[in-house]
Amino acid sequence: MRTPIIAGNWKMHKTLEESLELVKGLKDEVSKAKCQVVVCPTFLSLAAVVQELKGTNIDVGAQNMHFEDQGAYTGEISPVMLKHLGVKYVIIGHSERRQYFAETDDMVNKKVLAAYKHGLIPIVCVGETLNERESNSTFEIIGNQIKKGLANLTSEQIEELIVAYEPIWAIGTGKTATAQDANSVIKYIRDKVAQMYGKESAEKMRIQYGGSVKPSTIKEQMAQSDIDGALVGGASLKVDEFAAIVNF
Ligand code: PEP
Repeated sequence: MRTPIIAGNWKMHKTLEESLELVKGLKDEVSKAKCQVVVCPTFLSLAAVVQELKGTNIDVGAQNMHFEDQGAYTGEISPVMLKHLGVKYVIIGHSERRQYFAETDDMVNKKVLAAYKHGLIPIVCVGETLNERESNSTFEIIGNQIKKGLANLTSEQIEELIVAYEPIWAIGTGKTATAQDANSVIKYIRDKVAQMYGKESAEKMRIQYGGSVKPSTIKEQMAQSDIDGALVGGASLKVDEFAAIVNF
């Protein structure tokens, strides 16, 4: 049995004060959640949010990181720094990072390996564009992202890792993939990982769906055989909406 995990990706939203207000509101609302709960604020709010959530059932993740421990990389944040703050998860290869910041599968793989080197759990995002979906290349695109992004790991690392399947055309657009379509791509991801690392480890790995998840969509999504949680953008910015999703 895989424990569901629902994470909120706040993207470039919320000042420090607003971040604290959100988690203060969230703490009690999600305290009885049956799934694991994660929030991913901006780098500037991470330290304060980690402190605020000590002793609660909400874990904290970062939205990105560099793969080097330290160095002359102006504007970047290293896995060592995240680990020292008490951050547990890190989103890697979000489609916005790939699209606007030229992140490649090779960089994703370096970041995944660096996350494990420092005891962080990666949430690795994969997904196809609308063009790719319409030209029937979804499985090929996702297969390549998985093969390259998750290369050179151990079976134990795969068992801990989270994949987020996020069709790019469904992110922030209000369009969601049908729960059945999402489940079939997610099953494909699990098969691909089973080819690379064995069925036993692939069965333990959790795979989230992401793309305009809302309180009204989560039940059906979570009822699918292979969907183990959600990566939530817009709806994670409001206490009542995110709490309703987490308490599905
Ligand atoms: C995301 O940020 O990963 C995401 C899925 O966003 P939204 O829920 O707003 O579509």
